[in-house]
Amino acid sequence: MAKDNKTYFTPGPSELYPTVYAHMAEALDRKIPVISHRSKAFQEIYANAVSGLRQLLNLPDNYQILFLSSATETWERILQNCVEHTSFHAVNGSFSKRFYEFAGELELTGIKNEVSFGESFRANDLAIPAEAEVICLTQNETSSGAAMPVSEISKVREQHKDALIVVDAVSSLPFPDFDYSKIDSVFFSVQKCFGLPAGLGVWILNERCIDKAKKVSALRSTGTYHTVDSMLSKALVNQTPETPNVLNIFLLSKVVEDMNKIGAAELRASTERKAKMIYDYLASSKNFEIFVSNEAYRSQTTIVANTKMAPAEVNKLLAPFDMAVGSGYGNYKEKQIRIANFPAHSEVQVEKLVSTLKNQLG
Ligand SMILES: *Cc1c(COP(=O)(O)O)cnc(C)c1O
Repeated sequence: MAKDNKTYFTPGPSELYPTVYAHMAEALDRKIPVISHRSKAFQEIYANAVSGLRQLLNLPDNYQILFLSSATETWERILQNCVEHTSFHAVNGSFSKRFYEFAGELELTGIKNEVSFGESFRANDLAIPAEAEVICLTQNETSSGAAMPVSEISKVREQHKDALIVVDAVSSLPFPDFDYSKIDSVFFSVQKCFGLPAGLGVWILNERCIDKAKKVSALRSTGTYHTVDSMLSKALVNQTPETPNVLNIFLLSKVVEDMNKIGAAELRASTERKAKMIYDYLASSKNFEIFVSNEAYRSQTTIVANTKMAPAEVNKLLAPFDMAVGSGYGNYKEKQIRIANFPAHSEVQVEKLVSTLKNQLG
């Protein structure tokens, strides 16, 4: 197979973080994929990944970091471990909807508020019933490009002091600057904004989630190898219950180290500069139209536009320039494009994408 020189603006899997190539070579040289997950070498890798993430996300000490296989697994673990009867879901696209459906599949009562595709929520829009034990918010809906402003997420706590607030930030972290005193849990997968191969999910949770999981596990089974209790007892010694994705935990520790050298503030500022370039172009384009009409809800990391030309045709135009964008999600596959704006995408690459689209399509 020929070498692929394309830059992928697809929303996940997405472009690899530029240093991954070198870190992968180092991992193979050091035979990282062969080391035991019970060895001291692994414990050091694990500890580096955790401390790097704590720094990057500015995480308070009362939060624990757990490694799972994906964000999809994390949805299931949250519901199994932290919900006795009822969860609440703010649904505004395919990912938040799937999270909601998991509740029913696990024989829990899932209650949803739903807005149309391309919309999002303010805290006051949410009619959250008193019996909701967990409030599930999707900060960045990757399917539609609609985001819930972090300031609105912070307001939810004021009206719902007892419920746990859980945030899906799978396709936005480390961009959102959360006030961790206002949420209880957040999670992501590494193939989105961390520019890594898929197959590793990161679940961040505070002591309120841990206490709730203890309570639920006294009443019924909360699973087998990946209960909060089994994961935490291993996390204390920088290990996981199962043989984990050691290679990816290593790569994560390295990429997070690289990101910390840049700093979260600069990563955010750069993300906003690139998003502005993309949105400004889309607003002036003859072929595209920004999908999320309310500016306050426009995602900075996954940008969605209606397109007159089919996404496959757009990618045919981009191919000679070694670039590709994502097609729409689900029913919107042929009608929309999605452009990932992750830390792996440099400002130079985004400028090239925008100028190429302008030259080809106006
Ligand atoms: C991609 C994505 C998921 C699922 O992630 P997996 O790694 O495929 O499990 C969940 N939520 C959102 C918002 C996503 O973008």
